[in-house]
Amino acid sequence: MAQVSELLRAGSGVDLGSIDPAGTPGLPDTKQVRRDPKSWARAELADLGTQLARRQEMLYACAKKDRAERRRVLLVLQAMDCGGKDGTVRRVAGTMNPQGLHIVGFGPPTPKELEHDFLWRIRHALPEPGLIGIFNRSHYEDVLVARVRDLVPPKVWQARYAKINAFEQELIDSGCAVVKVMLHISYDEQRRRLLQRLRDPAKYWKYNPEDVDNRAYWDAYQRAYADAIAECGTGHAPWYVVPADRKWYRDWAVAHLLLDALDHLDLAYPPPDFDPETEIKRMERDGTG
Ligand code: AMP
Ligand code: MG
Repeated sequence: MAQVSELLRAGSGVDLGSIDPAGTPGLPDTKQVRRDPKSWARAELADLGTQLARRQEMLYACAKKDRAERRRVLLVLQAMDCGGKDGTVRRVAGTMNPQGLHIVGFGPPTPKELEHDFLWRIRHALPEPGLIGIFNRSHYEDVLVARVRDLVPPKVWQARYAKINAFEQELIDSGCAVVKVMLHISYDEQRRRLLQRLRDPAKYWKYNPEDVDNRAYWDAYQRAYADAIAECGTGHAPWYVVPADRKWYRDWAVAHLLLDALDHLDLAYPPPDFDPETEIKRMERDGTG
């Protein structure tokens, strides 16, 4: 478990070019896995999902029982277009209880959002104690698309790394574990997925002609990602780069990372604030037990 997160953790020396988007770091090297890694990973995801759901319930229960409870988790998903953010939400978050999740997607800022600092809408979308929050895109867009497409001058986006670090430190200090994941796909895989969208009427809604324009900026985006990871991959809120050309590996890996973060919270079901034995006796006297 710890091994997967260690293998995928990326810091100041990250070199995205040397990380194979079709790779499968941490996958066990057994006969069964070699024979059919996809089936193995899908079965394993179901098992990880059971463990995630159990810890999620503990987290939820702790906050329900104790108003002073501050613990919560934020999973940040970033990727190029077609990188698999939506699929990851469906497959990984889909293993847990919707009531304990807080999922927010971020598109281009609205006029109202633009009146405020870039972190304003982010602060409003944070998970409450007891919840697992998932950001489908995030404040990192403000040092990615904003930089690559010249939405703000360099001075402005450059100053944002420090603001992000301070913000995330504040989050962690307030009891929120932060897991940041870049789903790393290849240029060719993006092309395949865009074509799939164009060939399936049920996927037209996901297609945006601008995604093709953005392909011309692929290298600039990769540089922007590498810089964001290098500048903001702090010890407390590490960045993970998950090879994402293979969807079954991606989901398996992200489930591991989330489980790892939940394990670090050392969760347990809250103790009763009543005496169960006494309550059972009362029920027995009630005659219906
Ligand atoms: P999608 O994830 O396909 O729904 O697309 C969302 C779009 O919103 C992407 O093109 C993002 O680049 C864009 N977006 C998200 N956050 C920002 C931001 N802070 N500034 C500009 N564009 C953004
Ligand atoms: Mg899109």
